[in-house]
Amino acid sequence: MAVFVYAENINGVYKKAALEAVSYAKAVADQAGDTVTAISVNPTDSSDLLYKYGASNVINIKDEGLKNFSAKAFAQAVSEVADGNIIVFPHTTDASSVAPMLAVMKNYSLITNVLAAPESLSPFQVKRRAFSGKGFMHAKAEGTGVIITVSQNAFGVKENAVSGSEEVKNLSVVNEDTKVVSHEQSSGKLDLKEAEVVVSAGRGMKGPENWGMIEDLANVLGAATACSKPVSDIGWRPHTEHVGQTGKAISPNLYIAVGISGAIQHLAGVNSSKTIVVINSDPEAPFFKSADYGVVGDAFQIIPALTEKIKAIKG
Ligand SMILES: Cc1cc2nc3c(=O)[nH]c(=O)nc-3n(C[C@H](O)[C@H](O)[C@H](O)COP(=O)(O)OP(=O)(O)OC[C@H]3O[C@@H](n4cnc5c(N)ncnc54)[C@H](O)[C@@H]3O)c2cc1C
Repeated sequence: MAVFVYAENINGVYKKAALEAVSYAKAVADQAGDTVTAISVNPTDSSDLLYKYGASNVINIKDEGLKNFSAKAFAQAVSEVADGNIIVFPHTTDASSVAPMLAVMKNYSLITNVLAAPESLSPFQVKRRAFSGKGFMHAKAEGTGVIITVSQNAFGVKENAVSGSEEVKNLSVVNEDTKVVSHEQSSGKLDLKEAEVVVSAGRGMKGPENWGMIEDLANVLGAATACSKPVSDIGWRPHTEHVGQTGKAISPNLYIAVGISGAIQHLAGVNSSKTIVVINSDPEAPFFKSADYGVVGDAFQIIPALTEKIKAIKG
């Protein structure tokens, strides 16, 4: 049962989500008694990184036409080299648009947002996130092959070094669907979806001029910053920071929500976080029901004091 994994890179550099997908594929391959073949498009990072997490073979696709991302063209390229019956993807924005296209091309089953190693391989059955993270389900694949996307920060990045070999495939896939019009870079230093710690704030911050304290707290924690939807809608923060049902879905180890009420649409994107801390002046704020730790009080007093305390502990 050959196991393939799509190792996504950004500008040639492997994402943490790619290493997590390789770690996951290795666990599947161990169950199947087989090896992992990783596929990457125009990487600049060394394949050594993929061997470290369990890929025994690496296929590097070289294709000038794939410099700009297009789900259809990338799916076409992956379909030309992936001939396994289990293909693992990270559940990133790009990869989770390639995976369904590939499933259609190969006539394989598709199971998205997978949370754990498979319960069985034949038939392939696995636990996945459902209903925007409000529940779980056990999904069973039908047919000859299955494509899965692994929810970020669910399985974890696990070192499992193997000796590996690399193969370069020169392709020339037609990619006429995509033209880059503009490129918006997240203002935070860290990629929000990959961050272990996220400091997020909402309308309770009163205005964009007050975000300095959120950024200070994020800096001392090595965290990414996020925000609620209305905050990005009114332009206080960039849309790249918007989390929730209509924004990014994230699952960091620690999510600190400041001045956010905890509407169901916000929770849909953050309730898979491992630990949630809520800071809100209203003791009746709905977010407290989903919090592991809650602080009732004024963020304008709590956040600077918390930042100073953490600085002192770290110093
Ligand atoms: C179809 C649809 C999709 C949506 N998708 C999303 C989504 O993806 N993401 C999202 O976030 N929202 C989404 N929303 C909007 C959502 O319903 C809420 O309106 C929104 O999340 C509220 O944002 P907020 O918590 O920042 O603001 P508010 O609801 O105004 O809450 C502000 C909070 O700040 C607290 N506060 C005020 N002053 C202080 C202070 N000094 N210190 C501490 N706390 C203070 C208040 O007590 C309050 O709880 C969606 C809505 C719809 C209808």
